[in-house]
Amino acid sequence: MRQIFQSKKMPLIQVALPTPLRRLFDYWPAAGQPLPQPGVRIQVPFGNRQMTGLVMGLVDQSSLSTSRLKAAIAYLDQQPLFSVAHLDFLQWVAGYYHQPLGEVLQAALPALLRQGQALHPPQEPRWQLTEAGRTINPAELSRAPKQAALVRLLQSAGRSLAQKNLQSQGFTLTVINNLKGKGLLEPAKLTPRQQGIGLPQLSPAEHQPRSVLAEVPLNLTAEQQPVVEQLHGLLQGFNPVLLQGVTGSGKTEVYLQLIQRVLEQGKQALVLIPEIGLTPQTLRRFEKRFNRRVVALHSGMTDRERLESWRSAVEGKAAVVLGTRSAIFVPLPKLGVILVDEEHDASFKQQDGVRYQARDLAVLRAKRENIPVVLGSATPSLESLAHAQRGDYLWLHLRQRPGVSVKLPVPTLLDIRSRKLTGGFSEPLLKAMERHLQAGNQVLVLLNRRGFAPVLMCSACGWIAGCQHCDARMTWHREPPGLHCHHCDHRQPLPYTCPSCGHDELLPLGAGTERAEETLIERFADIPVIRLDRDSVRNRHDLNNKLEQIAIQRPAILLGTQMLAKGHHFPDVTLATVLDADHGLYSSDPRAMERTAQLLIQVAGRAGRAEKPGEVIIQTHHSDDPRLEKLCLEGYEALALDLLAERRNSHWPPFAYLAILRAEAHKTEVVGQMMSALATHARQLRDLEPETLTLLGPVPAPMERRQGRYHMQLLLHASKRAPLHRLVEALLPWLENAPEARRVRWSLDIDPDDLF
Ligand code: ADP
Ligand code: ZN
Ligand code: ZN
Repeated sequence: MRQIFQSKKMPLIQVALPTPLRRLFDYWPAAGQPLPQPGVRIQVPFGNRQMTGLVMGLVDQSSLSTSRLKAAIAYLDQQPLFSVAHLDFLQWVAGYYHQPLGEVLQAALPALLRQGQALHPPQEPRWQLTEAGRTINPAELSRAPKQAALVRLLQSAGRSLAQKNLQSQGFTLTVINNLKGKGLLEPAKLTPRQQGIGLPQLSPAEHQPRSVLAEVPLNLTAEQQPVVEQLHGLLQGFNPVLLQGVTGSGKTEVYLQLIQRVLEQGKQALVLIPEIGLTPQTLRRFEKRFNRRVVALHSGMTDRERLESWRSAVEGKAAVVLGTRSAIFVPLPKLGVILVDEEHDASFKQQDGVRYQARDLAVLRAKRENIPVVLGSATPSLESLAHAQRGDYLWLHLRQRPGVSVKLPVPTLLDIRSRKLTGGFSEPLLKAMERHLQAGNQVLVLLNRRGFAPVLMCSACGWIAGCQHCDARMTWHREPPGLHCHHCDHRQPLPYTCPSCGHDELLPLGAGTERAEETLIERFADIPVIRLDRDSVRNRHDLNNKLEQIAIQRPAILLGTQMLAKGHHFPDVTLATVLDADHGLYSSDPRAMERTAQLLIQVAGRAGRAEKPGEVIIQTHHSDDPRLEKLCLEGYEALALDLLAERRNSHWPPFAYLAILRAEAHKTEVVGQMMSALATHARQLRDLEPETLTLLGPVPAPMERRQGRYHMQLLLHASKRAPLHRLVEALLPWLENAPEARRVRWSLDIDPDDLF
């Protein structure tokens, strides 16, 4: 008997909250409510405010004394938003990147859900007649003709009607409430909506349109056919694939035919694309192919649109999700395949907060979900090439473009060492452009530098306009006019005279896209110049506008930064040119050459896509650089494999593992003290595994002063992954608690992309 009266121990709720603290928080359950399931959002008091977090589980013990624990305020979902397996994935991500779980969840939830809004928009109120209302003769209400009319309307409808509908027909809330007061009208019961995952999954096959296909797929070429067949054979289980196919070789068609098979099995496909690769055209291509819902997820959508896409993905209604990097976190109940298009693209790496690499997570997620993952690119990252070379990934190639006689152009290196440049253009290049334009074609010009001129210099004393907040030069912009720092966004008016010597001749050095545009307009008076860079394309609307202009203007010059080199199809471009290939050639950044090669090949891939042969001209001061020569003559893969061998010899990723600890503060001493204390601490820990671990630094960041703050970094290098993570793990308590660390802003970057 005593057992029965003994109260059962009350469980506590473990909550992940968006705070920088790497731990979970315990709360008493909200009064009078059933215990929440893991994956449900929860509102809790935190300090003196409220926060929305996620229930991770229940425990019956807390490290805090129970008297200090607070009670949850409310649960925001009836059904979990994340399955336990998906929570596990997110927890793995937090562990791998050594970030607070709450912050990973922030990245995984659409903004409106983070802010505590409902998964479903509130249901519209509806009104129905009561028993008395159904039987009354409306004539009895003749003194209130509006009321009589409403009763008549509902009687003839024979069902409940939405309040909005009634109001639009002129029945005000007063009329509705008066009838309610007379006992003739009542609010209709809302059908309880099933919410969250685990409930309405993909509708059963018989409710779907019979065929997955809405159009007839293309006949595969002899090269595509075996690729698609192999991919179809890999649909059961974890199978990573590197699909290396030159631009325009029909990778997207391969994706579509792979996805078709996945949809036929009633499953979902997740397609990751680079930040600016997702245009309405791409979306339309997928929508046109399938009789299933295709949704997009990218930063150009409103919060409401994003929530809608997310919900339809999570509920299994969307069959294909096309998204940028954060889409890797979307829970998909029936995920059957993940594709990463342009897998080498730098936008897959998140550069602040949780610094994850979506391509890596795609492979990891596929492994956990036991499904295939396809990484596609014309210029694969060295990381993926290394996996393919080792045989970890199946390596498939598409070397040709569909269609007869369409050859890939071999790029020509045009040496500009002793040539006069006008706005960045050499005379032979302008001549070549003229030829293509006279034939009525389009010419693409890549110049990876915006503004008018990267440097403004005094012709008398050599003074150069620098940023007052950064160790950087100010770029001269014409539109809007002024000096602009590209690192901290500081702007200031153009000086009339030299601030140093008073001389009144200030000269622009070098050329950015604005200056190149001016040069082209002067030279080719009647030819439209369509410029694409971050100043002229501020949003998706601008981008679509420009793409539409490109679609109709012939001849035309397409001028822009790398924005132009990504993913778009410009079938009438017959000449693609790069004004300055030299930036990455002698950079201290070990990835610079890989990036340069990718950019050059991506640009080259824009030329001659349709039936017109293409030409590619690359201006350089180093036409005898053996790496450039190799790239042009033997292609990307040949150079990339060389670079990979170099990386192996120099023990650099992907043959080693890196983490960077960065810190910044307003004062150099503050950040210097912190970093040297950190390094001392780290060296002691390193000495436990001296063979595998190396510390480089602390050193000032390549641009030490940025936005008025001093930046330093410590690079951790390891020949094996596990010891690196052990070291980082062991440093975290110090970073979270040491007084020196509290006086700076610090961050941790695992598998960094940039060493800056
Ligand atoms: P990628 O994604 O590799 O750049 P796409 O799939 O976009 O290449 O194909 C490039 C062009 O070739 C597109 O216009 C596409 O319609 C066409 N194409 C692709 N596959 C075929 C095919 N099997 N037959 C005919 N045309 C094709
Ligand atoms: Zn001067
Ligand atoms: Zn600046």
